[in-house]
Amino acid sequence: MINLYNFEIKKLENLMEEYGQKKYRATQLFKWIYEKKVSDFDLMSDISKKFIDVLKKDFYLKVPAIYKRQDSSDGTIKLLLELEDNSKIETVLMKYNYGNVACVTSQVGCNMGCCFCASGLFKKQRNLEVAELVGQILVLNSLLAEKNEKITHVVVMGTGEPFDNYNNVLDFVRILNHPYGFAIGARHITVSTCGLVEKIKQYANEGLQINLAISLHAPNNEIRNKVMPINRKYPIEELMEAVKYYEKTAGRRVTFEYILLRDINDSDECALELANLIKGTLAYVNLIPYNPVNELKYQRSSNNRIHNFLDVLMKNGVNATIRKEFGTDIDAACGQLRAKNEKAKNL
Ligand code: SF4
Repeated sequence: MINLYNFEIKKLENLMEEYGQKKYRATQLFKWIYEKKVSDFDLMSDISKKFIDVLKKDFYLKVPAIYKRQDSSDGTIKLLLELEDNSKIETVLMKYNYGNVACVTSQVGCNMGCCFCASGLFKKQRNLEVAELVGQILVLNSLLAEKNEKITHVVVMGTGEPFDNYNNVLDFVRILNHPYGFAIGARHITVSTCGLVEKIKQYANEGLQINLAISLHAPNNEIRNKVMPINRKYPIEELMEAVKYYEKTAGRRVTFEYILLRDINDSDECALELANLIKGTLAYVNLIPYNPVNELKYQRSSNNRIHNFLDVLMKNGVNATIRKEFGTDIDAACGQLRAKNEKAKNL
C-alpha cells in the first residue's frame, strides 16, 4: 500500500493513466485531499465506486502522529512527530506578523555535521518521503484550523539537508505551490541548503520561483572548514560561483543565513570579510543569534556584538537584518527537542 500524499500532480496524473483512468482524476483527487481535506476515499463523491475500491486496495492517506508538543508564550508551536517506522522528526510553527510559517524537516537526522547544530548530533537515518514532508503541513494546518487559520509560508530549514533529498523536496514544493494543492505562493516558500554546489546549479535550472537560502555561517574557508565540514568538499569560492550562476539563471537573489557564534565568526573583521565576499551579488544576509545546545561548546554572541556586526555589514552596502527569535522559552534550537527525546531513550 502507498500513501497517496506521496504524489505531486504530474506524477499522480501518470499514476491515474497507469490505472486506466483519465488524467483529470488526479485533479479530482488533489481537490479532495488538499482543498476539501478529505482523507476517506468513500467520501470522494465524484469518483466511481469501482475506482474507489481500487484506491482503497492499493493506497491510503495518513499523516504523522503528534508524539510531543511544546507551546511557547510567543505562539510558536514545536512538534515532535512520529512517522510510520517510529522515527521522530521536529516541525515548528512560527507566528510572524505577515503569516504562519512552517519550518519543515527533510531527513531523519543529518549527515552534514555542522558543529553548532543539535540536529547534526544524530546521523542521517533516511530521507523523508514526500508524504512525510506534506504530512508536516497537514498536521500544522489541523492545529491552525481551530482558529480558522492555515500555514501561509514554508521554510525547509529543519533537520536535514534538503538538497540531499532533492527529488522528494522538489515534489513537496510543487504540492505546496499547486493551486489545487496548498496554493502557497512560490515567493512564500524557501529551501535552505548548506551549500551542495551541483544541486544549487540544478535547482537554478528548474525554472522555479521558490526562494533559495544558503547557510553560510563564515566569511572564509578557514572558519567555514571548522564549523561546516561540507566546506571541505565545496569551498567558498565554488559556492559563490554557484550563487552567481543561480542569480543569473534563475533571475533571483539568494539569502545568506549567518549564525553568530561568540568569538568564532562574529568579529568586525569577519563582518567586513563577509561584506567583501558577497560584493557583486544581489544577496541579502539574515543574521541569526545562536541558541546554545547543551552538548555543544558554542556560545551566543552578545547583543552588542550582533548589532555591531550588522552595522559593519550595512556600512559596507550589504542588505542585512537580524532574525526575530522564536520559542526562547521552549527547546528553541533546531533539533533540540528531538535530541532531548533521543537522549532520554538511551538513558
Ligand atoms: S545545520 Fe542543517 S545541514 Fe547542518 S547539520 Fe544541522 S540540519 Fe544538517
